[in-house]
Amino acid sequence: MMRIMCACATCLASATSGSPADQLDAFAGSTSHVPTMGFLLPENDGVYRFTCPRGHENIYLHQSEKFETLFEISLHAIIDGYYREAIATFGAALERFYEAAIDVLLIARSIPDNERSVSWNKIKKQSERQLGAYVFTWLAVAGDLPQTLSDNDASFRNEVVHQGRICTKSEAIRFGNLVRVIIEQGIESLKSKFNDAVEQRQFEQSAKLRNIAGVNNAVVTRSTGAVSLSGQVSKTVEEWLKDRWAYRQVTDEAMRALTPLGLIIQPSPDPSFPSAND
Ligand SMILES: [Zn+2]
Repeated sequence: MMRIMCACATCLASATSGSPADQLDAFAGSTSHVPTMGFLLPENDGVYRFTCPRGHENIYLHQSEKFETLFEISLHAIIDGYYREAIATFGAALERFYEAAIDVLLIARSIPDNERSVSWNKIKKQSERQLGAYVFTWLAVAGDLPQTLSDNDASFRNEVVHQGRICTKSEAIRFGNLVRVIIEQGIESLKSKFNDAVEQRQFEQSAKLRNIAGVNNAVVTRSTGAVSLSGQVSKTVEEWLKDRWAYRQVTDEAMRALTPLGLIIQPSPDPSFPSAND
């Protein structure tokens, strides 16, 4: 399961105040200085509100492109053995990358936010139209043809999503790598030709996130995903799976250590399905 790690800001501030010697004394004597940690499930809008076990209210804004988060969810789905779901979600990540790329290209042509939103709303429910918009916007603005899935790979994805095809791990990894390469090369091309527009989109996304949350001054955090508009490392899906598996060992260990101390922030537990930590 994918989890987003965060800490209570108030607890963290008090844990890191005082001299290092004071902090060591405090840790040795009690858990009162141990910061509380959260391991939250991804939210659609990137806004995380939680109350830490010591009663501190937090709002945590996590800026992430939808395609970045979906790609991460797919990696975790593979680790958990949900290969069909991983493929469906990789496919969704690719479609959301097309959406972000169209937006960057229109920003590069100085199309205002409102016109971009109104135009997108006309095609937002039809993925074939979005693919058409992506190909022709890219051709018109960047001057060459963008990469897309081959007809065979698009048919495979449709069979998975619409006909319930049950898939193997190697099929999920293969499809994930196809999507990864299209997104990576697309980002590289956008950043090399339209870096100002990429930055403008990120600035706008950050403002929208604050607006959704209804706060002007909350800190917006970004973490770099396996595929990322803000700078990326090129690794295969196989390599990312090793990375994400190692990350899960660390978060699982932190959860095991902090849960008995009552210092863990989690989504409300579902009493029907007690977790391994209960
Ligand atoms: Zn706290």
